[in-house]
Amino acid sequence: MLENSTIQLSELLEQSDNTVVFTGAGMSTESGIPDFRSPGTGIWTQNQPIDFSEFLASEEARKETWRRKIQIDPVMSAAKPNSGHVAIAQLVQAGKVSSIITQNIDGLHQKSGVPDTRMIELHGNTTYCVCLDCGTRHELQPIMQAFATDESLPFCRECNGIVKTATISFGQPMPEVEMVRAKEASLKSDLFISIGSSLVVYPAAGFPLLAKQNGAKLVILNREPTQLDAEADLVIHDEIGPTLNSLKLNSL
Ligand code: NAD
Ligand code: ZN
Repeated sequence: MLENSTIQLSELLEQSDNTVVFTGAGMSTESGIPDFRSPGTGIWTQNQPIDFSEFLASEEARKETWRRKIQIDPVMSAAKPNSGHVAIAQLVQAGKVSSIITQNIDGLHQKSGVPDTRMIELHGNTTYCVCLDCGTRHELQPIMQAFATDESLPFCRECNGIVKTATISFGQPMPEVEMVRAKEASLKSDLFISIGSSLVVYPAAGFPLLAKQNGAKLVILNREPTQLDAEADLVIHDEIGPTLNSLKLNSL
């Protein structure tokens, strides 16, 4: 069964002139970062999410956000790209995959060697910070160290604005440039492969549908059924790393 579906996926990749890969939290579970919706991964769900408006309005909400970040960061910082990330990076290097649209905030595709120009991060990145007013980048470690010492909140060295991890929080507007790039990439693709996403978070999950409606073949690789399985041309319910590493491509 697996053999058959990986042969089919290999054939679709060989035939494609423009493949887009779309990844969700399942992409990084083999790197030790729990996803949201697999059973028993309460790390993300122990606490109610802090809405962006609350973060802006309340000093206490910002402090709580940083307390949680410090609690979760050791898992993120220790994570390394897994064999699935490496297989996708090889497809990018070989010119088979044009873009990676990701919902992940862990930066592991870039760490596996995918250039920034090929990446579209829909939900931002938690490995660094930005000023919400002027966009200046701030490094994470000094901010976390200062906060751990006396709970001092970070402000921008340029404009004194509020500094936050470069992620898109609940209630925060989606990043405009990334949304445009993701739409363009989806429309240009003739093969769209969704990997490790339950496809329930919108607007992100709209891109596989957009690509499919525009004529692309849709492949879903996920351990469990997803919301869009019925729309897909090929569904593979299996582990990501082993599946991607068993692809047989002449052009690689
Ligand atoms: P999700 O948790 O809703 O779905 C993940 C899916 O991946 C699940 O259906 C699960 O069955 C599958 N899965 C997990 N490990 C797998 C494996 N090794 N092989 C095959 N399938 C596997 O994730 P989502 O759709 O990305 O939505 C969650 C949201 O949470 C996203 O918006 C994302 O920004 C955020 N998030 C990010 C990270 C990260 O950056 N690594 C981690 C957790 C959550
Ligand atoms: Zn600033």
